Amino acid sequence: MENETLRKLPSVDSLLSHSSSTTIVAEYGRDRVVSAIRREIDSARRLLLKDKSAPIPGSEGEWIALASAKLAESARPKLMKVINCAGVVTHTNLGRSIISEEAARAAHNAAISNVNLEYDLAKGARGDRDDLVEGLICELTGAESATVVNNNAAAVLLALNTLAFGKEAIVSRGELIEIGGSFRLPDIMAKSGCVLREVGTTNRTHLYDYENAVSGNVAIILRAHTSNYRIIGFTTQPKDSELAEFARSKGLPFMVDLGSGAVADITRFGLPYEQTIGDTLRSGVDLVTVSGDKLLGGPQAGIIAGRRDLVTLIKKNHLKRALRCCKMTLAALEATLLLYLNPEKAARSIPTLRLLARSLDNVRATAEEAARIISRMFGQEAEVSVIADTCQAGSGAMPELDMPSYSVAIRHKKMSADGLAKWFRGRGIPVIGRVKDDLFRLDMRTVETLEWLEE
Ligand SMILES: *Cc1c(COP(=O)(O)O)cnc(C)c1O
Repeated sequence: MENETLRKLPSVDSLLSHSSSTTIVAEYGRDRVVSAIRREIDSARRLLLKDKSAPIPGSEGEWIALASAKLAESARPKLMKVINCAGVVTHTNLGRSIISEEAARAAHNAAISNVNLEYDLAKGARGDRDDLVEGLICELTGAESATVVNNNAAAVLLALNTLAFGKEAIVSRGELIEIGGSFRLPDIMAKSGCVLREVGTTNRTHLYDYENAVSGNVAIILRAHTSNYRIIGFTTQPKDSELAEFARSKGLPFMVDLGSGAVADITRFGLPYEQTIGDTLRSGVDLVTVSGDKLLGGPQAGIIAGRRDLVTLIKKNHLKRALRCCKMTLAALEATLLLYLNPEKAARSIPTLRLLARSLDNVRATAEEAARIISRMFGQEAEVSVIADTCQAGSGAMPELDMPSYSVAIRHKKMSADGLAKWFRGRGIPVIGRVKDDLFRLDMRTVETLEWLEE
């Protein structure tokens, strides 16, 4: 009786020899197709044992279609395009900066060819990968020398490990930062092998606090840009230039972890002043570290720029080998920096700068168009409106600044605000909005085209 029912199941071999198996074998390989077919047959067998009239595929073609659908699902990349309407321009969880077309092309070309990554074409001999971007960084920032690693966390780690291993680094208590994604300055310092020497208080640190801390075992003075917060009110901190002069008088290097790292003066694009690498170095700071994918708008990278003797030591540290960037990153970074040679071109071509500097009228026009499409999509089911909103630059740039923006706000008759957020996340191209004041919103500062809504 039981055997009679199970006789309806095909054999793996009979399905494999069916003509429509050929395409999926070519696509997924024989082993995976065999496993997928076997899984389908096994699960049908379990169903039939529970209920001998359970529905199972009728033809060989149907069996194969079932296996093929599962294989397609398992072969879909997990990393996929999403639409950032979350109200944060460089959103760490959404991959921070979108790089320029120029940078993307450069990375693509480097990926699919051999390149002179460490090869001096003039000499026909081994070269140094830092040479590809060092000249540009120096030109754009006034640094004497520069090197590039995987990210800014790596830059801080490498610089401290080189210059202060087994020694003390002085940091103000007002700057013991934690950045999202578990960059905690005290922890990075410990991993670099240097000892944190805290001075001052959370809100006030004076030059004499640094002075009192300097002893034989201090190797460096470190300042961290308070990227994602500001201490306001009864506060004081020595200026970079004052600390630089003090450090010089003590023969100590002075390093600033700038974090966001503006290359160009962004006030020229109508944005608030953000300390540039060049200004920082000009105030007498010896070394600056920044991220490549924050305000700079390039690929994930960490730039260390400043005094030649210090950068030379850093490049010689064997840890650099473990933290170096790949050819695609360097290609994208070089292309991004090339755009900065003409700041107007940088503002046009680098999405991070373009989105931050975008006119409010332009944001509103996109929001209105998006609202029309979404309204058509939901019909009578939802109320869709355009509202004035605020968003953030993100990634630790301008943390206290609410940037003006426009959002599409949606109220649905059957879905809650959180339900709508989930619904938009579940689209073919997931859309990431946010719920604020119990209202689901899609912030439009970060959206320039709307074809993703039509799909
Ligand atoms: C963002 C940031 C970091 C970490 O940079 P990553 O490139 O994410 O590694 C370190 N310090 C400061 C001040 C930052 O803003």
